[in-house]
Amino acid sequence: MAHRGSCHCGKVAFELDGEVGEVIDCNCSMCRRRGGLLAFFPAEAFTLLTPESDYGTYRFNAERIAHHFCLTCGIAPFSEGVNPKTGEKMACVNVRCLPDVDLSSLSVRQVDGASF
Ligand SMILES: [Zn+2]
Repeated sequence: MAHRGSCHCGKVAFELDGEVGEVIDCNCSMCRRRGGLLAFFPAEAFTLLTPESDYGTYRFNAERIAHHFCLTCGIAPFSEGVNPKTGEKMACVNVRCLPDVDLSSLSVRQVDGASF
């Protein structure tokens, strides 16, 4: 199933080809502040529809994940990284930025990112 997603102002928009079922609520030092609900997809499933110049990128800790945020409204719709087990490029989507997803229908898994 295809989903459309975006930041609040729409300057960062994307299409996602995949099912959103279980999502992750992470308690690491960044996620606890940002408050997204995250789902991972192969990079091929993710298509950015807007210019890369409209988002900023934040890296911390080991700096392996590029956390993108809109330079206009500040919302962080997605991150990019590599699956450490397979080397496969991954897109990590904040499903709160997918307006067609019923957030109350998702099963939320708590991830203890603070301990990684
Ligand atoms: Zn925006």
